[in-house]
Amino acid sequence: MMMRHIFVTAIGISFLLVNLANETLAAEAGFAERDITPDIGMEQPGGYGKSFHRTLHDACKVRAAVFKDGESSVAILGLDALMVPRHLVLACRQEIEQRCGIPADSIMISASHSHSSGPTGMVQPGEYDHASEFVQKLAYEKSSTADPVYLERVKVAIVEATCEAHDKLAALNVGFGSGTEDKVAFNRRFRMKSGFENTHPGQGNPDILGPAGPTDPEVGVVAAWGDDGELVGCIVNFVCHATLNPGGISANYIYYLERVIQGVMSEDVIVVFTAGASGDVTQVDNLSPYVRPQPEQWSRMVGGRVGAEAVKVMYSIETTKEFAVTSRNKVLKIERRPPRPDRVKAAYELLQDPSPKADATELAFAKETVMLDALLQKQPFADVEVQAVQVGPVVFVSNPAEYFCQYGLDIKKGSEFPLTFPVSLANGCVGYVPTEEALGPRGGGYETRLSSYSNLIPTAGTTIANEGIALTKQLQPGVIPTRAPHPPFSGTGWAYGNLPPQVD
Ligand SMILES: [Zn+2]
Repeated sequence: MMMRHIFVTAIGISFLLVNLANETLAAEAGFAERDITPDIGMEQPGGYGKSFHRTLHDACKVRAAVFKDGESSVAILGLDALMVPRHLVLACRQEIEQRCGIPADSIMISASHSHSSGPTGMVQPGEYDHASEFVQKLAYEKSSTADPVYLERVKVAIVEATCEAHDKLAALNVGFGSGTEDKVAFNRRFRMKSGFENTHPGQGNPDILGPAGPTDPEVGVVAAWGDDGELVGCIVNFVCHATLNPGGISANYIYYLERVIQGVMSEDVIVVFTAGASGDVTQVDNLSPYVRPQPEQWSRMVGGRVGAEAVKVMYSIETTKEFAVTSRNKVLKIERRPPRPDRVKAAYELLQDPSPKADATELAFAKETVMLDALLQKQPFADVEVQAVQVGPVVFVSNPAEYFCQYGLDIKKGSEFPLTFPVSLANGCVGYVPTEEALGPRGGGYETRLSSYSNLIPTAGTTIANEGIALTKQLQPGVIPTRAPHPPFSGTGWAYGNLPPQVD
């Protein structure tokens, strides 16, 4: 009797444990957006020098999704912006937490990397105030600079969009899935006959041996419907640089992605876009035998195809109102790599007496070398926040890098979640973070150039990936909802379909 009692209790406890582990909570979702279209005449960031907006193509937005279960709430934001600086993220988080109670550390603010967006970067206001007058002039007058007026506008928009999404929280039917779009994005780095790697070696270049890195065609989707069957909002995750400038101010290809989803579903749908590990992946196919499409057509093609794939996923997924919502994060201090002293000296000499022979690229990177040298005096380490935000069976794993695609694949492989969506350029910006191979003796190219923008030590990428995977291990993956299991075979099939051919 005693034995039996213990046995029953043991079963009872193990049942309880299993139940706790798989516990799903009634959850809610909410979506909202705000306009952050820059003014004509504002800077258009994306290069190392200054460029200004002259025309408008379409609106840039802050796009926010908020999820809440019984205990926790998280926010996932996608901005139509080149980058989102760390100081802006911290200011927004603080205000959001005060206004609507979402914990600061549970808010993910990411940039799409739109190269046709407003001045959120590169140089931040006051960033080089500690440096010499000469360096200040290079930073503030010769470089792409963030506009304090625009940054304030973006801050207000981020806070308002997030709090509105929070206010709109409702028991929606949420689905999770992914599809494949493998015809619009290409790795832009190649192994060359020289023994090194080049970025964009040029179509038809006979010295190309093959791509130096992968692509990731997964189109990640989280989508939420009302009980009336109308799609309320969605998150789409995809790996491709937003360098498809259709001409003028624009959300870039994300505009066409949104148009396709809204065109099929409803024009009121909020589409939150998060960029995967896209550091070395763009729309340019260096191996194509054909001339490139026109900018407008190209932008439609990339955005349209990714949006259409997202729609296909949405039509296939099952939904639930019960899922777990939680997040983890960690701020790493990662060392920057200093430029060699002789290179700093040569850069100063070139800039102080620019010879007519020095080309624009040489001058741009001389400026970058001098600026990095000054930056290191103030910030020898970069704050690199790694974050994992769980929405049921999906985990978004973010970092502030223009992160190489291989690392995104590594994170997907290392995560035990049914769906893992890496997010780059989130919660700050630390420039390109290439693979150790790309920074090795047989590497090279554009992204590995040392600049005030890209300068973390070669192991940074691996450290970030490992930390991202470690954060996912602290979470309990949810299950992708499916239709009810089919009952066991009843012994009868379709009565019309069970006869031999009638040819006699
Ligand atoms: Zn980039």
